[in-house]
Amino acid sequence: MNIIYLSSEVTPFAKTGGLADVAGSLPKDLQQAGVNMHIFMPNHKNIDKNKFNLKMILRKVRLKLGKKTKEVNLFQGYLPDSTVPVYFIDKELYFNRKGLYQENGQDYPDNAERFAFFCLAALECLKILNIKPDIVHCNDWQTSLSIIYLKTIFKNTPFFQNTKTLLTLHNLAYQGLFAKEKINDLFLTENLYSPTKLEFYDKINLLKGGIVYTDLINTVSKTHSQEIQTKKFGCGLDGVLTQRKDSLYGIRNGLDYLTWNPATDQNIAQKYDPDSLNLKAPNKQKLMQLNNFPYQEHTPVISIISRLVPEKGFELILEKLPEILNMDIKFIVLGQGLPKIESQLQKLAEQFPEKLRVHLKHDENLARYIYAGSDIFLIPSKFEPCGLSQMISLKYGTVPIAYPTGGLKDTIIDIDQNYEKGNGYFFQNYTSSDFIKTLQRALHCYHNDKIKWIQAQRNGMFQDLSWTASAKEYIKLYEKLMVNKNVATKSCVKAIS
Ligand code: ADP
Repeated sequence: MNIIYLSSEVTPFAKTGGLADVAGSLPKDLQQAGVNMHIFMPNHKNIDKNKFNLKMILRKVRLKLGKKTKEVNLFQGYLPDSTVPVYFIDKELYFNRKGLYQENGQDYPDNAERFAFFCLAALECLKILNIKPDIVHCNDWQTSLSIIYLKTIFKNTPFFQNTKTLLTLHNLAYQGLFAKEKINDLFLTENLYSPTKLEFYDKINLLKGGIVYTDLINTVSKTHSQEIQTKKFGCGLDGVLTQRKDSLYGIRNGLDYLTWNPATDQNIAQKYDPDSLNLKAPNKQKLMQLNNFPYQEHTPVISIISRLVPEKGFELILEKLPEILNMDIKFIVLGQGLPKIESQLQKLAEQFPEKLRVHLKHDENLARYIYAGSDIFLIPSKFEPCGLSQMISLKYGTVPIAYPTGGLKDTIIDIDQNYEKGNGYFFQNYTSSDFIKTLQRALHCYHNDKIKWIQAQRNGMFQDLSWTASAKEYIKLYEKLMVNKNVATKSCVKAIS
């Protein structure tokens, strides 16, 4: 089975969030299970070609894109420690940029054209390389256009005659919304700007187009696959998703335990496992040292590693942070995002120099020290399709506090509800008062019931959140597509129109 996996970011080459982690790990497990994986991503400026030993395999190939002709280069490398080939669509005009999607909080104005080029060039390169795809597996809006091209421009192309599509929704909050005039930048040969196709409240919506045209859809946790069919979580696409509910599945993301495991992590101060939890202390010591805090064994360290955007719960955090910082705790934030949130955090860090450190950058090494050295991990997201950071914190014995939504609901169990399996704490109402009460509940346990605290830590560390089970579910979806080869294509667009 030949699967073409398209993603705008892939760890370790380029990353802004969880999508990159998934794209850098799931294909390895699938390949090991016998599926033939090929990843395509843009050749973003900061990808180090020497470090990853990337080779140029196509030079200045001229592609016919709609009415235009453009040149492209193709580099190739491998996902580290694997045989999974990664192809990098190289076009300076589009991808030689400081950011992946934006700079200084502003999206690049030509994002529609940039990712249209990526999607179409990837499909054209498949033809040149003669890699016949059984399934093109797309991720989020940036790659949705590949599905649309396959079902329109290429619908009668013999090379893609047997190609099916799967669209994975990692984050519905980002839909690829563009002004309707941009339709001309999408290299389409027919006008798809209509309410049953790409039109969405007077704009182009690329994710909607992907959902309408794809054969199957999945999102990244079971709970979220239900949630997105509701007004509260559907981000305006609940209607379209409900119409496609028979083709919509939920598969929880996994965690790459080769990368994220305190028992083998080379980058933390001291390795540890569930049976040597006392060895977490040197990591806390190191974290305090790195943050210029005195080490106090019994003072809880609370941390957040997150994009600094409202949906990650920063309204709640910012509202309650002064109150939290008056408690006997240390608080560490690592993240980048909206300038307003960054400056509010920075102001508080100046106000509470003995309690709060704010690191406004992307730094995976520091993230590892934080996961290993903290006691409590906050992830108060309003919605969370799956969430990787709580899975990492669970593996590192750092007890998460969250609101039970999406993948958080599927991976965290409140220890006060289930002592045997509990691994964290939930606040049931999305209010700042419930949030702070839950933090106090956790702190009370931390200080007064060490046995229960260790039980929560060990339950989290023993939980199997690897890709093994989830990769099997992806294979089942792929097989479903292969069986239904002739049925799905026609029915999906019909279901919407
Ligand atoms: P999302 O994909 O919505 O950003 P996830 O929880 O699914 O959220 O994934 C976030 C990933 O990015 C985690 O691996 C987390 O550790 C990492 N991360 C987020 N911000 C930073 C940062 N500033 N520095 C290092 N890693 C970060």
